[in-house]
Amino acid sequence: MAEPIVFSSPDPTMRELLATHPQLTLDVQCGLMLEGVPLLAIADEMGTPCWVVSAGTLRARAGRLLGAMAQAGLSVSPHFAVKANDHLAVLEILGQAGFGADVVSGGELLRARKAGIPASRIVFSGVGKTDAELRLALAEGIAQVNVESAEELEILSGLAVQTGREMRVLLRVNPDVDAGTHAKITTGVAGNKFGVPWDEALELYRRAAALPGVRAAGYAMHIGSQILSAAPFRAAYARMAELVRATREAGLPVSVVDCGGGLGICYRDEGEGSPDAWAGAIRAELGGLDVRLAIEPGRWIAAPAGVLLSTVVLRKAVTGGAPFIILDAAMNDLLRPSLYDAWHGIVPLSPRDAVAEPEIAAVVGPVCESGDMFAQERSLPRLERGARVAVLDTGAYGAVMSSTYNARPLAAQVLVDGDRWSVIRARQGVEALWAEDIVPERIRSPV
Ligand SMILES: *Cc1c(COP(=O)(O)O)cnc(C)c1O
Repeated sequence: MAEPIVFSSPDPTMRELLATHPQLTLDVQCGLMLEGVPLLAIADEMGTPCWVVSAGTLRARAGRLLGAMAQAGLSVSPHFAVKANDHLAVLEILGQAGFGADVVSGGELLRARKAGIPASRIVFSGVGKTDAELRLALAEGIAQVNVESAEELEILSGLAVQTGREMRVLLRVNPDVDAGTHAKITTGVAGNKFGVPWDEALELYRRAAALPGVRAAGYAMHIGSQILSAAPFRAAYARMAELVRATREAGLPVSVVDCGGGLGICYRDEGEGSPDAWAGAIRAELGGLDVRLAIEPGRWIAAPAGVLLSTVVLRKAVTGGAPFIILDAAMNDLLRPSLYDAWHGIVPLSPRDAVAEPEIAAVVGPVCESGDMFAQERSLPRLERGARVAVLDTGAYGAVMSSTYNARPLAAQVLVDGDRWSVIRARQGVEALWAEDIVPERIRSPV
């Protein structure tokens, strides 16, 4: 006899998941809806896997975040962290909602520009910007470069002088505060590759103020992602405030503090990070400093706006254990469960499947890796071959992290807006997978 499966903590039921995901509703006739669109209709027409993102949810959450800042009496420049979702349509929507862009590569910079975000609202973060990327930033005349090392500062200064331009710089400081989140998404503790150590920041700022081609304007930080309480933010902002005061006492002007991103969402039952609490932490520590404030949220805005639609390829029975539900989506589409052990809700699309008797199952993809797993021991309505499901909260760090591993073409993408939907990226054709392969003549087999 197999041991019965015992849960350390039970998974939320379908009803509980829908309660924490108000952007989704379950219609008795049409099944799972995102805004006014039945997801089943999209899956039927587009095939699966297919990403869907809700314009209304993006707008609502962007507005909610800006509202919380305004409510706290803060005037902030918001920059969307483009790495969370770099689709042009998403960037256009957020640009219209008042957001600039926080980019971490030349490609993201050009994407943001292509989406109509003015250079004056683009900030450039990242530990390893190449000379070509820094030249691009200078040529485009973006708002600021968040410099992450002494070495980068010298290189940027040199390139700026060479090209006859000047760049505003913030020093990204590592405040050595543990965000209390997953090790792979913690960025602000000592020993981490990101930023300048807190106790070396003032010296480097002094250097920046003296260098030609760069204008030291302030400090930036970003301590990690999926942060759910205000405490780590407050601790980090307190250290930033201390640094601003010390810098001014040293006779150097500081006019900007970039508070980073990192606000978390409710994937499972952890509760959602509160924009009001985040705004409160900013106000409490930085509100009285007479600096211009900036934020760089990504996940909080975009993650709940997206789902990944998939179809059950087959059920594989396991003697004495939980069956494998094998989906047509995989780790090459959505990497987060494999990379971070991330928990994502999985909800059937059809109204009948949604109310099926729950069972314990493992939900996996077809890729040849044991890590290709969406859920290990999950309580789910029983799913038969052919059933369609939505993997929730995939609007951030979803499609952007896809690969074509196992020669699986990139999935299609759809935008829902009210009761209408449109294809925003066609499914990649299989020929595109080898279109740029070159087989040298000398090794080609004779035909
Ligand atoms: C990833 C990142 C962000 C966004 O983080 P979220 O957790 O998605 O809000 C902001 N700033 C920088 C520098 C980043 O690297």
